[in-house]
Amino acid sequence: MARYIDAVCRLCRRHGEKLFLKGTKCTTEKCPINKRAYPPGQHGQGGKRRSKLSNYGLQLKEKQKVKRIYGVLEKQFRTYFKVASKTKGVTGKVLLQLLERRLDNVVFRLGLGISRSQARQVVRHNFITVNGHRVNIPSFLVAQGDVIQVKAKEKAQIKIKDNLELSKDRTVPSWLEFSLADLSGKVLRLPGKEDIQQPIQEQLIVELYSK
Ligand code: SF4
Repeated sequence: MARYIDAVCRLCRRHGEKLFLKGTKCTTEKCPINKRAYPPGQHGQGGKRRSKLSNYGLQLKEKQKVKRIYGVLEKQFRTYFKVASKTKGVTGKVLLQLLERRLDNVVFRLGLGISRSQARQVVRHNFITVNGHRVNIPSFLVAQGDVIQVKAKEKAQIKIKDNLELSKDRTVPSWLEFSLADLSGKVLRLPGKEDIQQPIQEQLIVELYSK
């Protein structure tokens, strides 16, 4: 599947906020947002200041932000929105729940990947099973009770242990449970808005797609 290949820090700078696209590395002092909180490119510093956005601009920006955080392209994002709008519940919250339930996100949130993009590779490289079955589709949606486990093969175990070491300062969210002994995680319940790490105004996205 296609994905963003732009230098990820530029995306944060364009948004004017930390999107934590490099996961663990984003909490270090090297984060460019700490030093260069202006847009990238020749017109960034000293150029035009960030102009005040219209309501439409704000809606568009919020959608782009969420797509980038979860590494999802427009077509797939629209599909998530369609599913969310047909599902019982508040559309914006269901949309965020769908994104959070992605297997690559769950692997990241368990600390088995240092960022969502690296967690995607971990899934694609066949390092993960769900309920004992190999799943190498990053967009696979986990359900309550699912057990996510690292395969026993040596290469997977070594890679994941390295990732866990690098992610040791991150906490596993309360909707997931992690077992270091067998490198597995369990979905205790489906995530809610309060479980989303970053501030997201999902209502803006709903308004954008409802036009
Ligand atoms: Fe964004 Fe992380 Fe790069 Fe900082 S280090 S600009 S938060 S991707």
